Amino acid sequence: MEVLSLPPMSKKVRLRFAPSPTGGLHLGGVRTVLYNYLFARRHGGDFILRIEDTDQSRYVAGAEEYILDCLKWCGLEPDESPNRPGAYGPYRQSERKAEGLYEKYAAQLIQQGHAYYAFDTPQELEEMRAKYKTAENPSPQYNHVLRGKMKNSLTMTPEELQQQLAAGTPHVIRIKINPGEDIRFTDLIRGEVHFSTSGVDDKVLLKADGMPTYHLAVVVDDRLMEITHAFRGEEWLPSAPVHILLWRYLFGEEHMPQWAHLPLILKPDGNGKLSKRDGDRLGFPVFAMNWTDANGETTKGFREMGFLPEAFINLLAVLGWNDGSEQELFTLEELTEKFSLDRVHKGGAKFDFDKAKWFNHEWIKRLPVAAYRDRVKDFFITGLAINGEAAGAEKAMAELKNAISGSNEAKFEKALELVKDRCTLLTDFVQQSSFFFVAPTQIDTVAVQPKWTAAKQTFFAELLRQFTFISPWEAPILEKEFKEMAAAAEIKPGDLLLPLRVMLVGGKFGPGVFDIAALLGQKETEHRIKHALSLLKV
Ligand code: GLU
Repeated sequence: MEVLSLPPMSKKVRLRFAPSPTGGLHLGGVRTVLYNYLFARRHGGDFILRIEDTDQSRYVAGAEEYILDCLKWCGLEPDESPNRPGAYGPYRQSERKAEGLYEKYAAQLIQQGHAYYAFDTPQELEEMRAKYKTAENPSPQYNHVLRGKMKNSLTMTPEELQQQLAAGTPHVIRIKINPGEDIRFTDLIRGEVHFSTSGVDDKVLLKADGMPTYHLAVVVDDRLMEITHAFRGEEWLPSAPVHILLWRYLFGEEHMPQWAHLPLILKPDGNGKLSKRDGDRLGFPVFAMNWTDANGETTKGFREMGFLPEAFINLLAVLGWNDGSEQELFTLEELTEKFSLDRVHKGGAKFDFDKAKWFNHEWIKRLPVAAYRDRVKDFFITGLAINGEAAGAEKAMAELKNAISGSNEAKFEKALELVKDRCTLLTDFVQQSSFFFVAPTQIDTVAVQPKWTAAKQTFFAELLRQFTFISPWEAPILEKEFKEMAAAAEIKPGDLLLPLRVMLVGGKFGPGVFDIAALLGQKETEHRIKHALSLLKV
């Protein structure tokens, strides 16, 4: 019997991320990418992106580009991919199918007696399910129990089979799973895992349209692409016995990649897998970047919410892994140095959006001002920001865009410096800095009015007169003058600072109030104080 021979595997460490292009990339998917990527880098290996697009019914246009863009944004670019082919192409399964890479393995399995042809129509399958359905077994499977009752090469004579094939009757090829076998493998996270084949159905390997299913394609491709390690989500664990059998029959288990099934990312309350719906319900993203589906409905992504890729990667790395110390902030380089699978937890990791924002805040604080400026510019100019919504006022947003695109670069730079550490998300820059560019439309007089007095009114009127003598118009000089005047008026400076802040920014927020006045300039500061004084009643 012909067994297809292949060149020996190279010993280089090679890992792959093998998504199906069906929609937005879930943060769990990005964490899978990250762990594969880190392991490959750590061991001087290759990281490959393979597009698993054999299920034409689930194919979504644009999803592949989207995945590539996500990896680019995250800084986790593959060494080999459809866009960057290496020596193991093609990197899309549909193209590999076109090159005839799968049928011959299905044929080999048939020859070996490990697979068979099945001619059952969808209707016949439906009838089978209805007929054998019981309370204990609500969805009967095509398996060792039922295959003997179905229309397949195991129940036909060789002549019947030849007739069917010659007539071109639509058919699939199924794996023949023998019951009662114990399948074992060592998972790099879970340790020894075993299954009995009795619970496994005769999965389809080659579909009626000639396309391989995921099960056949993943095994063939992992071998042909010389994959040495494969880390994937825990949801693939039930498929492992089928894959192991295919490895055994086709290539020998000794060549099988070492598997690691990554624990799930759980809902914040720990009850089940975090889904896109949880994100919608709880108001946080679960996709890496915005994803717009065929109905034009957009699901928000971490990128558009104002996350930095460094923070996104960092928070995903520690969702289920730590380096054994208290350290929480890691650069990609540090992660590459420190990542190891033996510190990946077996249990699921709860997603906590507040903690995710904490990571982003820490990463914004870590960015040098110049780098922060570039990110803010990119973010707002490329229009990623959720315009208007974040600004609260379109005019402020327009002014801000002007400043950002260079009409008042110096002011923009200074504003950036002042508000950087106060921003948790990149979008916060608008709320935190728009008052520098446009006077607040509303003044929170409620915060000031109850403690407003004639003495304070007089103080501010006097302050306005003194402004003419303040030179240069700089924060320390303004502060000194302000405090001297407060002492002379016998009012605690603390009681005057809040009103000044509210007059200048509209509310109780923002950086140092003298820094704000300095950047606003004398005329604008005067103008805002006068306007607020006109609203306050003694
Ligand atoms: N195509 C599978 C997916 O969409 C890949 C699973 C695996 O890594 O084996 O996740």
